[in-house]
Amino acid sequence: MKKRGVIGHTFHFALSDDRVIDGSRGGNSARWLNHACGANCEAVEDAGRIFIEATSSIDVGEELFIDYQLAIDEPLTESVRNRYVCHCGAITCRRSMLASVA
Ligand SMILES: [Zn+2]
Repeated sequence: MKKRGVIGHTFHFALSDDRVIDGSRGGNSARWLNHACGANCEAVEDAGRIFIEATSSIDVGEELFIDYQLAIDEPLTESVRNRYVCHCGAITCRRSMLASVA
C-alpha cells in the first residue's frame, strides 16, 4: 500500500490490488491525520480496507500522526521537494513527507 500525494494535500491510499481509496472523501476522520517522521500510527491494509493502527502507546489528547511516505508521479525537482518538506521536529526527521527524496 502506498500513499499518493497531490497538490492540495489530497491523499490516496493505493491498495495492493491497484484500487485507490481517497482518504479525504466521505467525512473520513483519517483526513485529519498529520504527517510526522516519528509517527505514532500507521496505515494498514486489510481485506481491501485501510485501518489506522497505533504503533506506540498514545496518551489521551495526544495528536495522531502517520508517516505519509508519499509517492508522486512527477519528476523530483527542487520545487517538488520544497512542496513536501517536513518540519515535524523529530530527531529522526528526514525533512520530507515523500517516501524517497533521492
Ligand atoms: Zn519530519
